[in-house]
Amino acid sequence: MSSQVHQPPRRASSAPLALNANAADAPVSATLRMTEAVAARRAAGQRTIHLGFGEASFPLPVALREALARAATRTEYAPVLGLPALRAAIASYLTRTRALTATPATVAVGPGSKPMLYVLMCVLAGDALIPTPSWVSYAPQARLAGKNVYRVATDPGDNHRLTREGLDDALQAARSTGGDPRVLVVNTPSNPTGGMFAATDAEKIATWARGEGITIVSDEIYAELAHGWRPHTSPAQFYPEGTVVTGGMSKAFSAGGWRLGYVALPATSEGERLMAAVRSLASELWSSAATPLQQAAIAAFTYDAEMERYVRRSAQVHAHAVARLHAALTAAGALCPRPAGAFYLYPDFAPWREQLAHRGVSTSTELATHLLEHWDVATLPAIDFGESPDALRLRLATSMLYAPAGTSAVEQEAILNDLLAQADDLPGDGTLGTHMLALPALDEAAARLAEFTAALAGAAL
Ligand code: PMP
Ligand code: GLU
Repeated sequence: MSSQVHQPPRRASSAPLALNANAADAPVSATLRMTEAVAARRAAGQRTIHLGFGEASFPLPVALREALARAATRTEYAPVLGLPALRAAIASYLTRTRALTATPATVAVGPGSKPMLYVLMCVLAGDALIPTPSWVSYAPQARLAGKNVYRVATDPGDNHRLTREGLDDALQAARSTGGDPRVLVVNTPSNPTGGMFAATDAEKIATWARGEGITIVSDEIYAELAHGWRPHTSPAQFYPEGTVVTGGMSKAFSAGGWRLGYVALPATSEGERLMAAVRSLASELWSSAATPLQQAAIAAFTYDAEMERYVRRSAQVHAHAVARLHAALTAAGALCPRPAGAFYLYPDFAPWREQLAHRGVSTSTELATHLLEHWDVATLPAIDFGESPDALRLRLATSMLYAPAGTSAVEQEAILNDLLAQADDLPGDGTLGTHMLALPALDEAAARLAEFTAALAGAAL
């Protein structure tokens, strides 16, 4: 018998349900917080123009629908890193469409690219360099994983382009305060700006990262949604041994709720070690992504002519919607980089700084609140994308506005399918062209924002 005295465990607090420090003050992610706020407003009968959430919502391709129905009985767990046939389909898809060298062994599948990005933050060494502006979850994830976050500044006057100088400055600033950045997160096309790397910039960033021994985490979830005037270029083309690429089903295949994403790692022995670490963490966190969805996703990444056409058409409808709102915003006098991909715009309301201040609005948070409360327009403030509080920029997502609010699911499906069918009449290069899609909800958003800026312009200082 053991003679050990049984000690009660040490307790951080005498109250039950006490939270640890990381969780105590953590807010809900801005995108999801906003979409829940819009749902609550609508449930309370308040009409809301929803530019606050980026969700590709076209009806699922028929082949995927059928594949999922066939896979409904697949109740077994899948292997931790994913079904071999899905990993193979993604690897050959990436090799064919992205000029990457992926193999089934270098690809891992998980429940969305968001958790895959988090796992990467957990297993990769060092602190994180994160450009400003960039997607809302990178910095919180890096901090949750115990990293210090160092922001890389970009110039709004230069379309928020990521430059060597910006990277050098951020690295120096980090090192001078004892930081050790070993990971750089990039995102092309970008959420929130819609900007895409020019091939020369992708090469410069890759060369810089290689020179500094920094791993690039390249979030390419919007790669398929390029508008057509700038080709997608992955930094992995120039730095294959040090770039990790993520992507998934949420954007190109309009299947965010399927929660299926992937990571493609370098085909090197270091890449193998990283894969082993990803596997270990995934095995402790989620075991495997849902088997029926993985089985169905094989049809997506096999990328036959039907799938290719679906993705091309949805990219063109997004491009048209974005070009239309961009034209309206710039006509109203907002400063707004021209998006090259995805379904976001990132206008700057600085031209009305004085008029806004007059109404008590001097930060992006106040601007987003003002638009929601007084104009029924939901957006996300620049601060959620890492900007300083006084940057008067907002992220607008067009993707929730392709079917009028209040239409039934059946009506929405018909409307959205009709838009996809008309996509072949669009120019295919991100310009507006002459064929105008019927997008009444988007037109209402454009008109409301124009009214807002006209009211500001007319306001006495
Ligand atoms: N990266 C970016 C830039 C995104 O906008 C999203 C969308 N939520 C994700 C990653 C994550 O997508 P998912 O987890 O649905 O694959
Ligand atoms: N990507 C979407 C957005 O930025 C929302 C989904 C999410 O944040 O997980 O609006």
